[in-house]
Amino acid sequence: MLQIKRRDQITFLQSEALSRVPGIIQAFSTRRGDHTDLSLGPHSSPNPIVQMNRVRFLAAVGAPGWPVMKLRQVHSGTVVAIDDTSAANDAVEGDAAATDLKGIVLGIQTADCVPILVADSRGAAVAAIHAGWRGTAARIVESTVARFREKFSLEPKDLIAAVGPHIGVCCYEVGQDVVDAIGDPVFFESRPHWAKPHLNLGAANRRQLINAGLHDEQIEVSSLCTRCRGDLFHSYRRDGKKTGHMLSVIGIVP
Ligand SMILES: [Zn+2]
Repeated sequence: MLQIKRRDQITFLQSEALSRVPGIIQAFSTRRGDHTDLSLGPHSSPNPIVQMNRVRFLAAVGAPGWPVMKLRQVHSGTVVAIDDTSAANDAVEGDAAATDLKGIVLGIQTADCVPILVADSRGAAVAAIHAGWRGTAARIVESTVARFREKFSLEPKDLIAAVGPHIGVCCYEVGQDVVDAIGDPVFFESRPHWAKPHLNLGAANRRQLINAGLHDEQIEVSSLCTRCRGDLFHSYRRDGKKTGHMLSVIGIVP
């Protein structure tokens, strides 16, 4: 379950399972600030309100002033391992980041895509993943778990994963290109009143976590739909190009 929290007039969600991991911070942002419609992206935004919102959000979730790793998200299957806090100064291309460094925030921006936060149960290493349909088709979750094994010698049985708010199967109509790319028909649903199949991104990514060696009890999947829940979330499908962005963050406390 994700729990809703409010601190310093910022509303965010936290994973109950990840909250049992010692020495980490983790949160999924919402659009609820005090008087503002809280948008935290894109990273490249020169908008001073977005910059200010990010500062306030990081402070509220327990990472005040920490550098944020800026991934240039391109809907790929690329996992970047962060070995150096100076990496936060440059935008690196990729859609997942993993690190065992303390005092750096891994951040993923979304406005319908799936944000996934991962940590090992002792808080030795963390990862943040961006999985839209392309990243899901590229099995970026499985690549990230493999990276935990190679880079940090952590086994899948030691990991906890939280799949954050994303566009639900209720709203995620897709075309044949997506059906072909994902391959497995089990993740698609049809209804008489739906013109096209709908993709269940949460279920697809849960399956990838299981395939990678995690057990059901190590995985939390949010059932909140970003498009349906306009009171809580930004949504590209709902609001189009003018949409704001959520930021999902995880990091190890120094
Ligand atoms: Zn929906």
